[in-house]
Amino acid sequence: MRHIPIALLVDDSCPLVHVLRFHWEDVHHREPVTKDGRRMLDYIPNSFLEAYCDVCDRWGIAGKFSIVPAPAGRGDVVNGIQGFPPSETQAWLRTVKRRLSDRFDFTPEGITHNLTVDLTTGAMLPIGESDWSQTQTRDTLLPYLVRALELLKAAGIDANGFTSPWVFGIKSEPEYMVSMVEAQRQVYGRDSSWYFLHMLWSQPTSRPWVAYQDERGRLVSIPANVRDLWWETIDDAHADPKDIARRLYEQTLQVVEAGGLPVVLTHWQSLFSNGAPNGLQALDEFGRLIAQDGRFAWQRCSEIAEMAEQPSNHPTP
Ligand SMILES: [Zn+2]
Repeated sequence: MRHIPIALLVDDSCPLVHVLRFHWEDVHHREPVTKDGRRMLDYIPNSFLEAYCDVCDRWGIAGKFSIVPAPAGRGDVVNGIQGFPPSETQAWLRTVKRRLSDRFDFTPEGITHNLTVDLTTGAMLPIGESDWSQTQTRDTLLPYLVRALELLKAAGIDANGFTSPWVFGIKSEPEYMVSMVEAQRQVYGRDSSWYFLHMLWSQPTSRPWVAYQDERGRLVSIPANVRDLWWETIDDAHADPKDIARRLYEQTLQVVEAGGLPVVLTHWQSLFSNGAPNGLQALDEFGRLIAQDGRFAWQRCSEIAEMAEQPSNHPTP
C-alpha cells in the first residue's frame, strides 16, 4: 500500500533565466563558471520544462515548484524576460499550468532571487534579498511578499505557499511568518498556507509543523530533509545519474526509518545540469526507485501541510 507521503521541492525555477548564474555574478561577485571549468549557461530553454514534465508524468512526482516572479531582475512573469519575445514567457507559464498544476503547488521565491527591489522606485538595492530580509520587520517584509504574490497572480498563477530564497527570513522568522500569513490573506484571501525555509539534513526525524496559528490564519513550516544531490551535475557533466538516484533513495529510506516525512530538495539549475542530461536522468531513475519500492505516495506541499501538527516535539531548526 502506498502510504508514506513524499514531496519534491523544486527551487529557483522560472521562465528562461538561469537564476544561479546571475545570482553568483550580481550577489556574490563570483565568476559564473562550473568547477570543471565550463561557462554557466545564461538561459534555460522552454524545451527543458517539457522534458521535466515528461519525467514527473512518468512517475507521478508531486510537491512544490517555485516561480521566481522577476528572475534576476531581468524582466518578469507578466511582461516577459529581457531579450526574449514575451510569447516565450507566456508559453512557459502555460506549460507550467497545464502540465504541473495537478500535482505541484506554486510559490514565489523572493521577487528576483537576486538583488533586493526598492518597491517604490523599482531600482535594485546593492544587497541580496536573503541578506536584506534578516534585519527587516513586518513593515517591510509584508509589502515585499505582497508584491511577489501580486506578480504571480497577475500571471494567472495561484501561489498557495512561499519558498525562501537561500535563507530568507531565518533571523527574522517571527516577523516573516506573520507577513506570510497576512500576504496570503491580502492577495488571495487565503487563511491557510505553508512555507519552505529550513534545511534539516542532520535531522531525519523532521516532519512539517504548524509554525503559526491565530485568528489571522494558519502557517505550516515544511522542512527539507533529503539533500539536493542533483547539484553535483552542475559541476560534472559525467556524474552518474544511477549513482545519484541510489544515494537519494538511501537518504529517503533513512528519513523513513527515523520516523520523519521525506521532503526532497532540488533546484532548477541542478536538474538542468548546465545543459547536460544527467540531472533529469537522475530524477527519472529516482522516480523509478520510489515507484518500485511501492510504499510511497507523492503529495503536493499543501496536502502535507494539512496533516501537520502543533509543534510539541518537532526538531528545533
Ligand atoms: Zn533558491
